[in-house]
Amino acid sequence: MTIPEFDIINTYFNKSMDANSNVILGIGDDAAIVSVPDDQELILSIDTLISGVHFPADTAPADIAHKALAVNLSDLAAMGATPKWVTLALTLPDAKEKWLREFSDGFFALANRYNVKLIGGDLTRGPLSMSIQAQGFIPKGLALRRDGAQPGDLIYVTNTLGDAGFALQHYQQKALPQTMLDKFYRPEPRIHIGEKLRGIANAAIDISDGLAADLGHILKRSNVGATINVATLPLSEAILASLERDEAIQLALTAGDDYELCFTVPENKTDELTQVMQNEFYTCVGTITSTKKLDLHFDNGKKYVLKTAGYQHF
Ligand SMILES: [Mg+2]
Repeated sequence: MTIPEFDIINTYFNKSMDANSNVILGIGDDAAIVSVPDDQELILSIDTLISGVHFPADTAPADIAHKALAVNLSDLAAMGATPKWVTLALTLPDAKEKWLREFSDGFFALANRYNVKLIGGDLTRGPLSMSIQAQGFIPKGLALRRDGAQPGDLIYVTNTLGDAGFALQHYQQKALPQTMLDKFYRPEPRIHIGEKLRGIANAAIDISDGLAADLGHILKRSNVGATINVATLPLSEAILASLERDEAIQLALTAGDDYELCFTVPENKTDELTQVMQNEFYTCVGTITSTKKLDLHFDNGKKYVLKTAGYQHF
C-alpha cells in the first residue's frame, strides 16, 4: 500500500463516537475488549461482500460501505438485536485516498445513525472485498429465531418487495427511479422494527434472497408450512409502473437484496403488533400452516407457480 496501514486506519477508520460504555478497548491493540451486561445475550453475525458478486464493480465507495454494513446490521435486526459494535476486514487492490475517504464517510454515516462502533479490523491488498462482523445485544431469551413459527401464525413483511431486484436487473439504465436505486445501493436495516418485535413475533428473518427462499428457511427450521396470497404482496408504485403485476410478484418472491423483514406473529398478539407498529409500513401476506409446504395462491385460490427459485449462492 502506498499509505502505511497504520495511517489509513487512523485517518479513515479510527473515528471516535459517542461514549459507548460497553467498549473497554477499541481500535489500536491486538484485539478489542467489550463487556456484555448480565441481562443481555450477545448476537453475532458476519457477511462478506465481493466486488462484482454482491455489488457492481463500478459502485460508488460510499454505497459499497453502506451496503456492506447495512446487510450485517440487517441480520441483527432479523434477530431483534440492538447493534453495538462491528469489526471490518477490508481487502483493497490499492490504497487511494479519495476511495478510502468516500468509503469511510459512507460507513460512518450509517454506523453513527445506529450508534454502532467500529472496534477493530484488518486491511489487506487484493481484489476488492470486505467482511464485516456485527455484534449486538438482546435481553436474554428474546431473540427472534427462525425456528419459532407455529401453525396459525400470521406472516408479515415490512415495506415493499422486489425493488432491489429490479434495480439490480436494470442498474445500467440511468433512468431508474431513485427509490429503487436506494433500495439496491442503500438498503435500510430494519433495526427499530426488529426491536419492536421482541416478545411479539414467533420467528423472523431478513429477506436477502427473495421472500420464497427466506420464508422457506423459517418453514424448514420451524418444521411448518405456509400459505401466501400473492395478491397481498406489497409492491411499490415504481415497480408497478415498470412491470406487469405478475412479473412484479415474481420479483417480490425471488429477487434478493431487499433486506426487509419477514416475521410471524401468533393471532393473540396481533393487537400488540398493531400497537407497536403504528408508524411502520408492513403487510400481512399469509399464514403459517402445518402442511410443511409453501403454498402460493391468488385471491381466488388459483395456484401461483414460481418460475425461478431465489438467489442461489453456489
Ligand atoms: Mg439474514
